[in-house]
Amino acid sequence: MKVQNYINGQYVDPINDEWIDNYCPANGEVYGQIPNSSQDDVEVAYIAAKSAFLSWSQTTFEERSRILIKISELLESNLDRFAEAETKDNGKPLSLSRSVDIPRAAQNFRFFGNAITQFASESHESVGQHAINYTLRQPLGVVGCISPWNLPLYLFTWKIAPAIAAGNCVVAKPSEVTPMTAYLLGEICNEAGLPQGVLNIVHGLGTTAGQAIVAHPDIKAISFTGGTATGAHIAKVAAPMFKKLSLELGGKNPNIIFADCDYDDMLSTTVRSSFANQGQICLCGSRIFVESTIYDKFKSDFVQKVKQLKVGHPSEQGIQIGALVSKSHLEKVMSYIKTGIEENGKLLCGGNTVEIKGYENGYYLEPAVIEVPSDECRVNQEEIFGPVVTIMPFNTEEEVLKMANKVKYGLSATLWTNDIKRTLRISSKLQAGIVWVNTWMMRDLRTPFGGVKASGVGREGGFEALRFFTEAKNVCIKYD
Ligand code: NDP
Repeated sequence: MKVQNYINGQYVDPINDEWIDNYCPANGEVYGQIPNSSQDDVEVAYIAAKSAFLSWSQTTFEERSRILIKISELLESNLDRFAEAETKDNGKPLSLSRSVDIPRAAQNFRFFGNAITQFASESHESVGQHAINYTLRQPLGVVGCISPWNLPLYLFTWKIAPAIAAGNCVVAKPSEVTPMTAYLLGEICNEAGLPQGVLNIVHGLGTTAGQAIVAHPDIKAISFTGGTATGAHIAKVAAPMFKKLSLELGGKNPNIIFADCDYDDMLSTTVRSSFANQGQICLCGSRIFVESTIYDKFKSDFVQKVKQLKVGHPSEQGIQIGALVSKSHLEKVMSYIKTGIEENGKLLCGGNTVEIKGYENGYYLEPAVIEVPSDECRVNQEEIFGPVVTIMPFNTEEEVLKMANKVKYGLSATLWTNDIKRTLRISSKLQAGIVWVNTWMMRDLRTPFGGVKASGVGREGGFEALRFFTEAKNVCIKYD
């Protein structure tokens, strides 16, 4: 199976004819090749995008909206094919691909197809000066979108949909580890009538193809989701060219549990917020802080539930934990479990690799819970991005708030309490872009999404994304 680049509406091989192996995490076998694209491929993609821009940016909102919604409908009608491809490429349970990843990718196109018809700009009457100002929100031109492997199509489309809705043309690169659904998306875009060159997808390594997008002098903006170190590197390359940057980076999110919460709801949601997608979601609550009065009960109930999670081949019915995305990632996660123990953490459950009959070389790991002696240990401070959580007790609100904020990241936080005053106090003081109270990962696509501190710069979602992908120009007219 050979993945090709999608440039100017056509599937093409990389110019250098170099290829990278693509692995199936469920069995550890190579099942295809993807282009190892170079700067030359990015240049061809850029030229296609630039050529399409004038016409696409002048397309009416109704027409853009119609095409985006058509893409959404086609994704929905190809749900099985896309879900199977996502699972094979990423190792996530098929049930998750079917119920979350692909439906959400479709929803991204539908949402921004609708949002663009409602996107308005401001006008300001300068009373007393006989002048009126109005703001134009104009597309930027050719923009770059770079996405990670954990929610492959979901995060890829989260960037592409607002970019093209706002009238830009795109050069995009999915993660080299999970190229399949991005590859299939080209077909859907052609069928939906997206004009050639509006979306161009270049596959390959971050350090070559990704770097070429970021360093391209005429690609006006970069929307990037991925690791914090990569984000810092991208910022360094892009900043001297004054590119617009949206960086959605890593997280080490606190899950704060007070004794007055709805216990059963908290317990089942906490299992999910810890281990959904094998813990490979930037929003997972990987640091669990529990009020000391319920700590022992929580510890015992939580560990019991985690032990019941079924690890297995991602296509098997009833499994909750599939394979980790790659061998190197599995090794990284396991080395963190070792570190946790070396730092005097107590491994309460999990942490062993799992051999699944018939798929012995797959990247399977039992979900792990580590009781940590201090919030300052490495497993409590560094992003692991796998099925590993830490737990520890706290006594007071002040103490837990301090620990929650004492990490370099600030993406999301979860709070479990029924005390409204405490909710308001803590929510306003948590250093995070998103706070969930008595729930987790409940998303309304109109809301701003993003992090503070080392979790990123800028916000995506709703009109925030459309503002990012447009430049505001103020026009001032004197009428006296
Ligand atoms: P990486 O930062 O390694 O990669 C992300 C993307 O950037 C990939 O497409 C990668 O390509 C590409 N890339 C790598 N180096 C460069 C470069 N020098 N220039 C341009 N592009 C480059 O992240 P992962 O794929 O490992 O994803 C996991 C990370 O993503 C975690 O830290 C996670 O927290 C974060 N994340 C953040 C989210 C948020 O919304 N804040 C949501 C989801 C994940 P390639 O893979 O081919 O190397």
